[in-house]
Amino acid sequence: MAGYILANGDSTNGCPWRPVVKMTFFIPEQSAVAGQQGTVIEWEETACHLCGSRKWSQLVEAPDQAAEGTGLWFAVVQCKRCGLCFTNPRPSLGCIGQFYRPEYRPHRSDNQSKRKNPWLGFLPPRRGRGQFEPRWHGRGRLLDFGCGAGTFLERMHERGWNVTGLDISAAAVNQIQSGLGLPVLLGSLPHPELAPESFDVITMWQSLEHVHDPQVVLRQAHDLLVAGGKLYVAVPNIDSLPFRWFGPAWYGLDLPRHLTHFSPVTLQVMIERAGFRVRRVRMIRHSSWLRASAQLTPRFPLKPGWRRWLTAKSASRLATWYSYWTRQSDCILASGEGRAATDRHGKTRIGRRNRRQQRERRR
Ligand SMILES: [Zn+2]
Repeated sequence: MAGYILANGDSTNGCPWRPVVKMTFFIPEQSAVAGQQGTVIEWEETACHLCGSRKWSQLVEAPDQAAEGTGLWFAVVQCKRCGLCFTNPRPSLGCIGQFYRPEYRPHRSDNQSKRKNPWLGFLPPRRGRGQFEPRWHGRGRLLDFGCGAGTFLERMHERGWNVTGLDISAAAVNQIQSGLGLPVLLGSLPHPELAPESFDVITMWQSLEHVHDPQVVLRQAHDLLVAGGKLYVAVPNIDSLPFRWFGPAWYGLDLPRHLTHFSPVTLQVMIERAGFRVRRVRMIRHSSWLRASAQLTPRFPLKPGWRRWLTAKSASRLATWYSYWTRQSDCILASGEGRAATDRHGKTRIGRRNRRQQRERRR
């Protein structure tokens, strides 16, 4: 199994949308050995999830960063045809669960519920007399895919949304059911208990990068949305300055739990292939990620150099703003729209807009 870990050597990343950045990778003598901790890891090689190609180049090797992690090393490769980056080879669906320890932060409810949820600000504004009304539909049925400990679900429930959570972690699902009493399902998409066209909004906050086949999940999300329904997807951005600065120590890698490593381009293409119209891809700032990366650096044969300053709050905030202004933040948020909504005559909003524009042109 150790042979599955790609050998060190090829140090070019071949990014099609950015100049090639040379990085020093690692001698894989510390690389993964299946069964190192008495567990059996079933590895699988995968084709590109976006174009199906099996031609890739190695981008980076990095270990499981979690404090309670296995210490195993994994490789991220980049498709030579479309540029999508993904963990390859990877633990199979049947054994990936062993990399999510009980201490895994997104699944813990402590501290989480007390913090301000960073995603609330990206949803539609409050309207009327303090009542929260979804901008697009009256009933506001929301599915949070990969809901973790349910912080976002709880906040949206408080704001009047009809919420449903979905998570692969049985412990997280039990926590929500017993602690919050909100509807939550165990599993992924597709899910047998979810009917087509049953949601107005689907959110995926830092969860799409965890699934084995993101294209299948997005297509299913498209089927679950009503006409005109909205999709919000936030993922780490591998085409970011923080990844270039920190490489294997970048907090957003989180191997092997992150299986697909998106850029703004590959995220948009994947969402569009699932049938959505992408409305916007925006940058998200996380100065805490930068500090976490700077703190991880001494674990690697990287010279901390100027990077050590980024452990300081003020320096990390400044660097995060710079990444944001140059559209190279380490997190991205894409919003998409499902099938076009139709009016009572069966005509789409887009069709109405086009007809109006044609009339204006004739004048
Ligand atoms: Zn590809």
